[in-house]
Formats: sequence, structure tokens, C-alpha cells
Amino acid sequence: MEKLKLGVSTCLLGENVRYDGSHKRDKFVCDVLSDFVEWVPVCPERDCGMPVPREAMRLIGDIDNPKLVTNKTFEDKTPMMKSWMSGKLDELEKENLCGYIFKSKSPSSGMTRVKVYNAKGIPEKKGVGIFAKAFMERFPLLPVEEEGRLNDALIRENFIERIFVYYRWQQVLKEGTKSAFVNFHAAHKYLIMSHNQTATSRLGRIVAALNSTNLSELQTQYFEELMKVLERKPNVKRHCNVLAHIMGYFKGELTHDEKEEILEVIEEFRKGLIPLIVPVTLLNHFVRKYDKEYLKIQVYLKPHPSELKLRNHV
Ligand code: SF4
Repeated sequence: MEKLKLGVSTCLLGENVRYDGSHKRDKFVCDVLSDFVEWVPVCPERDCGMPVPREAMRLIGDIDNPKLVTNKTFEDKTPMMKSWMSGKLDELEKENLCGYIFKSKSPSSGMTRVKVYNAKGIPEKKGVGIFAKAFMERFPLLPVEEEGRLNDALIRENFIERIFVYYRWQQVLKEGTKSAFVNFHAAHKYLIMSHNQTATSRLGRIVAALNSTNLSELQTQYFEELMKVLERKPNVKRHCNVLAHIMGYFKGELTHDEKEEILEVIEEFRKGLIPLIVPVTLLNHFVRKYDKEYLKIQVYLKPHPSELKLRNHV
């Protein structure tokens, strides 16, 4: 499989581009994800023409439409940033990114809870970095996260799952056939169910309405709905439900002992005694043993490379 393309705040890759000439190298980004990802680095402040080092900046004014101003000399850098941004977003559109990892807290790159100062100089942590906001408005379906939030195992697993879904969807669009679309939905059935049980049939109805003229319209509708569904993180209850559904698929073939073994492992997962990887590995073993073609294609059983060990912690 080719590497996925992800946008990233340049300082997270260890490049000395910050206002003080330093970096914010992130271990997960550089040491773990790099094996699977081709990075498209963006440092809005440096790339729009500001020097390194430079005066530190902050957001001031209206929370929804703040200005980017230097801390000591009060120089308004908003016009400079905005005129660079529109061309940069056009450029990024051509990159076919599958997601983006932003540097948290930055007035340019922060995705959530960025400080915005009011006229009295009092900050409220309700803003979004000026570039991050424009990026998310331009690419509303693209999975985005901040490096700090990725320390949370559930958020991390959810984000990585979504970037791989995005990648597989790009292949469907490239192929441009009804069968690629139908197969995509079939393969993601249990993954979708782990986020929202009713969404599987809702999305299935969109696929079932396919005819000779509406492929692109339904693909747009389907993918918008899918990305919304996947943003909601699966919980233990929903995982247990999916695991039981998968087991039900080959219940008739399992021996009494095998059935007991799976049920025990699902119960231990439900109680928080073992991570998700254990019941999933066991089910994968029986999928292979009983040669279940339909389950072999299920993305839920292998949503991202095992080397990332994401399900060892959820
Ligand atoms: S946070 Fe963004 S603007 Fe600041 S140094 Fe990093 S990449 Fe550049």
C-alpha cells in the first residue's frame, strides 16, 4: 500500500520554524506514523513570509473572526496571512490529503481552544488558529486532529481509523464505478456499526438507491453522512455488539468450546480486563479457520496497520 498523505504543522516534524527558532517534534508523528504517512508540512507563519525567529503573536478581538497581532509591536499580520492562505489552500486541494495534524494552542495552527484576547487583554480559550479555521472550512470532511489530543488512545484510534477510511474512499472515487462504491459499503458494514448501529442501514439505503445516473450525487451524500458517523467514537457497548454480530455470522460452525472461548473473551473486554485487540484477534483466527469470505473483507477486523498497535490501548 502506498503511503497516505497527511498535512502537518511543520514544527511537529522537528523543524526549527517556531517564533523562537525552536521546534515541537512529536514522537508519535515522527517515530510511529512516519512509516505509513507521506507528510505535507505547512508552517503558516514561516510560509507566508515571516522570518524565523520572529516576534510571538496572539489572536485578538472577535472569537469567530479574530486578528493575528504581534505581542509587543501590535503589528496586524492578518492581511499577510490571509493573502497567502487562499493560494495555499488551492495548492493543498491538489495534494489529495487524507487528514491533517495541527499544532495545538497556536494562533495560526491550533484547532481548538486557542486563546483569543479581548480589548482588556483577557484571554478566552475558545478560538481556532487563523490557518486551521480556514483549512477546516475549506475541507470540512477531512479528518483533522491536534498532536496533544492524539495522546488520548480513543481519539488517536478514531483519527487513524478515519484517515484510512478517507484513503480507501479516494480509491473508490478514482475507480468511479458502482461496484467499487457497493463493495466499499459492504466492507465497512461492521466498522460503521461500531460507531452507530442504525447508520449501517441508513447508509445502506443510500447505496441501494443507486441507478445509472446518480452515482456521483449519492457518493457525495454517502460520504458526508459516513464521515459524520465516524467522528463519534465507538464505546465498549457498541464494540461488544459488533463482536457478537460477527460471531453470529459463523455460530453454526463453531464448536461448543470455541463459542465459549469467544464469549468469555468478549465479556473480559466488556469488563475492561483486556483490550479490543484480543477479541478481534480471536475472531480473525476463526474467520480464517472457517474461511468466511464476507468477514475477511470486513475493515472492522483490520481498520489500520497492526504495527500502530492502536487497539492494544482501547
Ligand atoms: S504552530 Fe504552526 S505556525 Fe507555529 S511554528 Fe508550528 S507550524 Fe509554524
